[in-house]
Amino acid sequence: MGVEYARYLVAKGNAFSPSAVAVAKLVERLRKDKWIAGGGQAVTTVENTFGNDLRAKLAASTAPLPASVSAEWLEDPDREELRMVWRVEPSAPLSRYPLTRRPDGAVSPTFELHRAHDYVYPICETIEAIPTTCVCGEDLGFHWDEEEVVPAFGASSGIFAECEACSRTFDPTKGSAVLTNPFDGTKTPTRGGAAYRFALKVDCGKRFVADPGLAFAPELVSLVEDEFGREFFEVGAAY
Ligand SMILES: [Zn+2]
Repeated sequence: MGVEYARYLVAKGNAFSPSAVAVAKLVERLRKDKWIAGGGQAVTTVENTFGNDLRAKLAASTAPLPASVSAEWLEDPDREELRMVWRVEPSAPLSRYPLTRRPDGAVSPTFELHRAHDYVYPICETIEAIPTTCVCGEDLGFHWDEEEVVPAFGASSGIFAECEACSRTFDPTKGSAVLTNPFDGTKTPTRGGAAYRFALKVDCGKRFVADPGLAFAPELVSLVEDEFGREFFEVGAAY
């Protein structure tokens, strides 16, 4: 088991990719309901012209989020792969803790919204990969080549949403992967695995309660399901 923990909220069926208007509305509602507060950061995939200069790579891929995240801002083609990140500040009395159990002492997990055209797939020992071969035989799996780009999504691989060879749309639910609860080892075969084009992620880092029942706060899941009118499922990841 890893020593850090993150949790993903993904739409059932995996393929869901909300419109810019819908994402902007969600951000507004999360703020209104106090799940996020303060300024966030926008991380996008950018061309790597910086070699191994980590500081320059970070500076180029990260920018402050606008005070109000609008549909126009989200629709910018430069933001096709976007990770919006807010720090859940432990000292901010107005912020709510996004998981069911909050560890004692100071915690400051990140609250993130991920959006991409192609599928994102977390690389993690508790999350098995899904088959990525198209019906025509083409492998749709890819890795963001860190020599070429600074990827928005860390520790993830990608799966093309459409096959270049035959134009078929990739359906992750045709395959299955075993998702393992990092705290009690329960294995759950899951159609589509952890593939997503849109996800809410909470990254706890090293500070979390190692409870097999650890989940997203039910009110947070209800908010997201209500906003998009569909069901979501949860994936926990130790890394
Ligand atoms: Zn194909």
